[in-house]
Amino acid sequence: MRFANIAGRASLITASGAVDVARASELRFPAQPELLYEMWSDFREWAQTVDSSNGEAYQAKDLGAPSPRPSQVFALALNYAPHAAEGGFSPPTEPLVFTKFPSCITGPETEVTIPGLTLDWEIELVVVIGKFARNVKAADAWHYVAGLTAGQDLSERSVQYSGTPPQFSLAKSFRGFGPTGPMLCTPDEFVSPDDLALSSQLNGVTVQSSRTSAMIFSIPTQIEKISAICDLRPGDLIFTGTPEGVGHRHDPPRYLQVGDVLTSSIETIGELRQTFRR
Ligand code: ZN
Repeated sequence: MRFANIAGRASLITASGAVDVARASELRFPAQPELLYEMWSDFREWAQTVDSSNGEAYQAKDLGAPSPRPSQVFALALNYAPHAAEGGFSPPTEPLVFTKFPSCITGPETEVTIPGLTLDWEIELVVVIGKFARNVKAADAWHYVAGLTAGQDLSERSVQYSGTPPQFSLAKSFRGFGPTGPMLCTPDEFVSPDDLALSSQLNGVTVQSSRTSAMIFSIPTQIEKISAICDLRPGDLIFTGTPEGVGHRHDPPRYLQVGDVLTSSIETIGELRQTFRR
């Protein structure tokens, strides 16, 4: 199943276009995407019965975040060995987890205000939780996943490294620093949800390109480790880490500037597109 937030309304994306969930279900399910995660298994069951020939056209500019009001947003640092190495770090032996504060989450096509001189990109696969999760074992973890989407973990590096130890969470939570979308795909949409091509392009030039199978801590392991400490709630997000090729580690460093166009893609899920202003 492919699911999107179109102008704030939960929608199924079918071969014929978008189907509005509240209307097609005659209000059995709510219009607000954020409420659907509380009833995800019922929703998925109903979605299989929907007539997919009645989809309507929609515009990319109307897409919002698939999970627009997560109660928590977890994110992993240094979860790809080459990215750890480009920063001069050893691969972590335990997941390094920080938060992007939920107010930074946006839809897939946005204009972002540059807050400083060192704004950087990080394409990431994002997990959307579909079921309350506490002490979940890795072997069961996919049952707690509503689906996968793409995310940009935009990062202001000067703020991030302004002190010791570094300050990840604020540096990665400026307004607009969490683009997500363009849609959520349930795990069965993928041949292998553990092995997806992901990349980012700056003004059409590829700057990051890897596969999610290169993660140090897999999605099931992340859910096991996090849910041993924090309860995961429906709609919560996990940014699963970025591969090598961030601008901060270019020589010389390359930061985002007015006029840049950043696109970020994950196979099957689609593309994010950010432009930048002062
Ligand atoms: Zn990141």
